[in-house]
Amino acid sequence: MTEQTYALLIDGVKVATNDHFTVLNPANGQTVGHAPKASTAQLDAAVQAARTAFKKWSAVSDEERQQACLNIAAKIEEHSEELATLLTKEQGKPLNGLGSRFEIGGAKVWTQVTAALQILPKVLQDTEEGKVVLHRKPIGVVGSITPWNWPVMIAIWHIIPAVRTGNTVVCKPSPFTPLSTIRLIELMNEVLPAGVVNCITGDDSLGAAMSTHQGIDKIVFTGSCATGQKVMMSAAATMKRLTLELGGNDAGIILPDCDPKEIAEGLFWGAFINNGQTCAAMKRLYVHESLHDQVCEELANVVRTIPMGDGLDEANVIGPIQNTMQFEKVKGLVEDAKRKGARILTGGEAGEGLFYPTTLIAGVDNGWPIVDEEQFGPVLPIISYRDIDEVIERANDSPNGLGGSVWSKDIEKAKEIASRLECGSVWINKHGAIQPNAPFGGVKGSGIGVEFGEEGLAEYTNIQVIFS
Ligand code: NAD
Repeated sequence: MTEQTYALLIDGVKVATNDHFTVLNPANGQTVGHAPKASTAQLDAAVQAARTAFKKWSAVSDEERQQACLNIAAKIEEHSEELATLLTKEQGKPLNGLGSRFEIGGAKVWTQVTAALQILPKVLQDTEEGKVVLHRKPIGVVGSITPWNWPVMIAIWHIIPAVRTGNTVVCKPSPFTPLSTIRLIELMNEVLPAGVVNCITGDDSLGAAMSTHQGIDKIVFTGSCATGQKVMMSAAATMKRLTLELGGNDAGIILPDCDPKEIAEGLFWGAFINNGQTCAAMKRLYVHESLHDQVCEELANVVRTIPMGDGLDEANVIGPIQNTMQFEKVKGLVEDAKRKGARILTGGEAGEGLFYPTTLIAGVDNGWPIVDEEQFGPVLPIISYRDIDEVIERANDSPNGLGGSVWSKDIEKAKEIASRLECGSVWINKHGAIQPNAPFGGVKGSGIGVEFGEEGLAEYTNIQVIFS
């Protein structure tokens, strides 16, 4: 083997495994490295290390934990180009544009902002009858299970609020993109006490074993709705706390007062950031009938200017689909729409390897799989509408409720429509712009709980009320 073989990170030490699995570069099918396949005993060892570390870590001062997070941010910055290159190789997203460097930069900023957040005790009553104070205490060992689309950023979203509030962590990245997370956690271990953050990798069964593990107190999971439901079911026996960030089928609604040319680039990136493989990307676009054809044309013009290719080439800003399973899903949805008579405006035919051209589809409607299901790839269905009440109903006609957007020059009207959408975040004249000081999460089938901001931090704590 000439490619690097990686190790688990347990109790501050690199731990070799007997078995490995190969991680492939989706741009060319070449081997990026060999990831360790953890045994059940190694999962137990990681959990035990985190349990032992929790005793001390939960008792260190708030300032010390804050400083530790800032030290992690400095490590990410110092190694940003190395991390970005590894991420591009295993995930496929380009270094350039809203790709790997953007993700690693975001990971650093999220770490810094989360370090600065604080949850102070809250005095609920202070009278002659007595004092009642609400305290927030760390939960214990947090199991973090992450997906393949934004692996480094999402690992940071799980790990930093957990350690900031005094928990310890066992992180399991997706088997498609484990290497950048392993490296990230190696770097964290250069500045954290042993056992505070551990990393184990393996196939999906390792995630299932974490969800039932007696020694894990909370699971933070980001991934598909189907897996999220499994995690929730298997967490019941041990009454684990859960944060579930699941799939979305975000609708964008364009009101008749928009200028199609002006909004076309914003629409493009709202839908196609990370090649559409983003939970809160725009996954269906409803356009008022008076603007429908113009919006299709302007959006198609943008699509034609965006270079797609190997992410290590600085000229490219969109990469391949990350894996074959996802590629087949996207292809299948487009083929189904074609069979039903949809109009393909751009793309629509599979490219070489895992490259799938950015595809705009018109002449579709609710009830079609390409509209009703989460495509999670470079395809956007565009649907014409006439009446605002009816389009709100169609946007809400989904088991999911992650994000949504309204596009209009009349901001007040857009906000009124936003308030009628059944989802956790709504953007006006943009889509998917999350930030570390604003809570983010889904309603309905898109999950439970939120990440980011004080509300996100609170999810890593138990409440204890002291009556004196
Ligand atoms: P996935 O559900 O297939 O896998 C996610 C993780 O769960 C992986 O680490 C996987 O190994 C693990 N896993 C698989 N089976 C498991 C089981 N039975 N128990 C526990 N863990 C198990 O999801 P994916 O394909 O990696 O990611 C794509 C999905 O994630 C999309 O639906 C997307 O919308 C969603 N997502 C949501 C958010 C959000 O914040 N809401 C963010 C990113 C991605």
